[in-house]
Amino acid sequence: MSTREVILTGDTPTGQLHLGHYVGSVQRRVELQDTHDCYLLLANMHAYTTRSDHPDEIHSDTLEIARDYLAMGIDPSKSAILLQSETPAIAELTFLFAMLLPFNRVMRNPTLKEEIKVKGLGDNYSFGFPLYAVGQTADILAFRAHAVPVGEDQIPHIELTREVARRFNKLYCGIDDNVEDDDPAMEELGVFPIPRADVGKVGKLIGTDGVNKMSKSLNNAILITDTPKQVKKKLGQLYTGRQSMTDPGDPDSSLMQYVDTFITDSDRASELKDKYVRGDNIGDGHIKVEVAQAISELLAPMQERRSQYDGDDSTIIDIIRDGTARANIRTEETLAMAKEASGLGFFERKLSF
Ligand code: ATP
Ligand code: MG
Repeated sequence: MSTREVILTGDTPTGQLHLGHYVGSVQRRVELQDTHDCYLLLANMHAYTTRSDHPDEIHSDTLEIARDYLAMGIDPSKSAILLQSETPAIAELTFLFAMLLPFNRVMRNPTLKEEIKVKGLGDNYSFGFPLYAVGQTADILAFRAHAVPVGEDQIPHIELTREVARRFNKLYCGIDDNVEDDDPAMEELGVFPIPRADVGKVGKLIGTDGVNKMSKSLNNAILITDTPKQVKKKLGQLYTGRQSMTDPGDPDSSLMQYVDTFITDSDRASELKDKYVRGDNIGDGHIKVEVAQAISELLAPMQERRSQYDGDDSTIIDIIRDGTARANIRTEETLAMAKEASGLGFFERKLSF
């Protein structure tokens, strides 16, 4: 068995991937794939929490996200790209973990509350919507992951996951209440290591509306597939509130976040920022053009790699099938351990994939 640390992370197919995914999480995954056992989950079941009336879109978005991974530098021979809906141990663990979490604890999750607000779900969300937070703990723990590369918004979900892991280990594995999370005994005697969040270069990239987190569902995203013209147009819409070239600009504005994130020449980034903050005859429009160019330079090699898979669903499906088979080896092992510990183990079961 490999002694490398395990990484689990994933994305919900509610649209294509965007720059927020890249700087928040995928860039970090690409760095980790040489030294860690990496599993990337296509959370297609979770997409049904808000879009169960769009099954065809969820199906095609799932394949598009896999294409975006490959475009961004994920190597499927190193990282297993897997389908949540074909990894049954995850669903089984979700059910078990739902018993370990008080209902109110799940509903207090600030990320859930924020999603209900920004997606305008009101009181009309499905029962499955809050359940996805429990499901996400199972996504992670099914792999007995040590770390989860994610954007900042996911930290409350990781906190919930850590609680489930701790509770399970203490309830069913005889681990004493005062054993710390990072005590080696936790992993040696318990089923689950307590996973940590590994936040990427930019924990929360603001969208082109200049207000909300860049998000697939909010129509404020620069996609990996956007042409230079589209990038320029979207950035042009970024609202900064600045009136003229001589207005002192806000160093914490979304435009400055883009400068910091995408202008790779750090001297040039500081110079732009300096002039902007002092209101030294520099217009937002000028800065946006430079940022747009830098973004398009970042995207060009990704789009080149992505074009190899254009129209070729069968290669993508082969990659997902292979990744899912690898994932099932790991997650079936976890499930057997969890069942054994929690009184659900009666005989060995073998699923074939
Ligand atoms: P949705 O609108 O469906 O919630 P999303 O764009 O928020 O989609 P998720 O699938 O929820 O994307 O997130 C996948 C991963 O990408 C998570 O780790 C999340 O933290 C990260 N991520 C998403 N958007 C951003 C962003 N704007 N900045 C940094 N990280 C991000
Ligand atoms: Mg989200």
